[in-house]
Amino acid sequence: MSTPQGSSIPETMQAVVCHGPEDYRLEEVPVPRPGKGQALVRVEAVGICASDLKCYHGAAKFWGDENRPAWAETEVIPGHEFVGQVVELDDEAARRWDIAVGDRVVSEQIVPCWKCRYCQRGEYWMCAPHDMYGFKRRNPGGMASYMLYPVEALVHKVSKDLPPAHAAFTEPLSCALHAVERADIRFEDVVVVAGCGPIGLGMIAGAVAKYPAAVVALDMSPTKLELARKCGATHTIDITEQDPVQLVKDMTDGYGADVYLEGTGHPAAVKQGLNLLRKLGRYVEYSVFGSDVTVDWSIISDDKELDVLGAHLGPHCWPAAIRMIESGRLPLDEICSHQLPLQDFQKGLDMVAAGTESIKVTLIPS
Ligand SMILES: [Zn+2]
Ligand SMILES: [Zn+2]
Repeated sequence: MSTPQGSSIPETMQAVVCHGPEDYRLEEVPVPRPGKGQALVRVEAVGICASDLKCYHGAAKFWGDENRPAWAETEVIPGHEFVGQVVELDDEAARRWDIAVGDRVVSEQIVPCWKCRYCQRGEYWMCAPHDMYGFKRRNPGGMASYMLYPVEALVHKVSKDLPPAHAAFTEPLSCALHAVERADIRFEDVVVVAGCGPIGLGMIAGAVAKYPAAVVALDMSPTKLELARKCGATHTIDITEQDPVQLVKDMTDGYGADVYLEGTGHPAAVKQGLNLLRKLGRYVEYSVFGSDVTVDWSIISDDKELDVLGAHLGPHCWPAAIRMIESGRLPLDEICSHQLPLQDFQKGLDMVAAGTESIKVTLIPS
């Protein structure tokens, strides 16, 4: 094992521990010890994701209902949007990931089993056991001073010149870029992105990088729409003031948008997307919904013959997300709007829940 010179790793650390919905506590827990082939990382920043919040509030997707068993577990340290510095690892881990003590590294949020049908076929982001950091005891997350990267993890280096909160934005950005890849954007497309939160802004930046005819951002907040412009949106529509369906039709000789990327998690945004797409358009759903969504499915079939595509996680998009962040082309000082010490995690969760003053809230362990 190699460790950094002159730095000692403490016995215990501060961590947020999930004891169940709406019961997250700051606790003093043992610092994990790296086993064979693992890396110990000192966490520099960890973002709060909308999915963390849905888990916190007890959504059925995490805690189960009549249709599915619980997926999340209790006594787990949450957090899957993290970045940290390597403090200890053996030769096997160093060789596998091409990293050394002192490097700044992110790990993809899913730790694939590499054994199931999906992993065997290269579709690792859909891994059957689906061990994401921060939801199961097997893989504690980043809301702590230290964490382990297990043998199966996918690890990438990130520039040390970035502020930690910006580096931690790699995870949401990779997800947004994957949604963009699912949309298979063409040069002549009019692309509409619903929602200008962290994911929507990443979708806008990714869509713009594909150089379509127009990228139209929809939101209810003028501040977020301003940020959408800075991410490269060619048009913005405040849906509280204007009818997006009519405006998009006006822009497209009455046909409708070619691509709709949904990143709001609001049921009304689903209907809106189906209505503003042209026939044979492509709808990409990224959101996790707090409740069921009801729409007229005949729009998908009889009316428009739409391609409706799901998107989950950011497979094969981490290097591009890192390049985009390192390039400085995103207004990350504004996107990463709030950094709080780890002990203020409750305030952070409440901020994300309110969704009014913040874009991305990041916790900084000490
Ligand atoms: Zn996330
Ligand atoms: Zn698997």
